[in-house]
Amino acid sequence: MKKTILTGIRPTGPLHLGHLFGAVGNWVKLQKDYETFIEIADVQALTDNFNDPEKVHDNVLGIAKDLLSIGIDPNEVHLFIQSTIPEIAELTVYYSNLVTMARLYRNPTVKTEIAQKKALFGNDGESVTYGFVGYPVSQAADITAFEADLVPVGEDQLPLIEQTKEIIRKFNHIYGETLKEPEHLLSETPRIKGLDGNEKMGKSLGNALYLVDDDETITKKIQNAMTDPDKIHKDDPANPEKCMVYYYHKLVNKKNLEIVCEECQKGHRGCVNCKRELILHMQEFLEPIRKKRAYYDNHPEEVEAILKEGNKVAKQKAETVMKQVKEHMKIDYIK
Ligand code: ATP
Ligand code: MG
Repeated sequence: MKKTILTGIRPTGPLHLGHLFGAVGNWVKLQKDYETFIEIADVQALTDNFNDPEKVHDNVLGIAKDLLSIGIDPNEVHLFIQSTIPEIAELTVYYSNLVTMARLYRNPTVKTEIAQKKALFGNDGESVTYGFVGYPVSQAADITAFEADLVPVGEDQLPLIEQTKEIIRKFNHIYGETLKEPEHLLSETPRIKGLDGNEKMGKSLGNALYLVDDDETITKKIQNAMTDPDKIHKDDPANPEKCMVYYYHKLVNKKNLEIVCEECQKGHRGCVNCKRELILHMQEFLEPIRKKRAYYDNHPEEVEAILKEGNKVAKQKAETVMKQVKEHMKIDYIK
């Protein structure tokens, strides 16, 4: 029997390079060897976008199309929408008794994200909601609802998986062995930096290069990307490791990476030319993805059918786990 993968993505914007190289590329590689559930986490997206339901709604289909365009195979994967599985919400309620507020506030990912969302949660996070602080609990529900063995994610997710394991251990300790403890899996590049040099490219950080960006947008974004701040003149030697343009060359330039590095170090390469070259590599890299995306844009009914089927299979699986949880928690009264 195949082992199970559960992983997810928030419908808060289109797929970007960070997703692709940080996590989603692994999903494509593993999909044949695992029973794979990929969740479009709309409920989680609402925790910090509750005041913008259109945004979450409008990104669900787009994210599904993006995933299919980069090689997620609907014959291998159950692609589903979180809110169609009420069992996840139900599990979240039961698990919320097993975690303290102090522990949630200490979660490094939650902490960082509250600090990044000042406009929503206030300067010191004084307006943070119960739902947002509690989203790691709903993530534990996501993972356990599908009895996941493996959760392939980007590095920012590790504290959340750790928290899931704690909830699982506590549950099993109190109610008896019920829930399966998963392993995480990181890619070779588990944290892709943003165009601005920020440690993380993120949809909510405004520093992402999206797979659906058109040529004009890509050109503008790359032209404004951060380069070595100590390089003032075209022929100054520079440090490519301080340059986001070289950083993205490393991801998509399969042709002359060593030359780019060497010329940059020796001052034989101006940033304008280097960016121009990166734009060409990026266009070449995105070409097949764009073709597939255009196909799904013209066949939205196929995408909807894939999601409908995914929702169905995911619901069946979650119902089985829910039944076991209720039995162990002694909340199955009348048979
Ligand atoms: P948001 O800002 O709304 O949280 P996001 O860009 O962080 O969006 P998610 O939907 O939260 O994207 O993440 C989906 C998956 O992609 C997760 O496994 C996450 O770890 C991974 N991921 C996201 N951004 C990066 C990145 N810059 N580098 C590596 N992995 C990433
Ligand atoms: Mg995120």
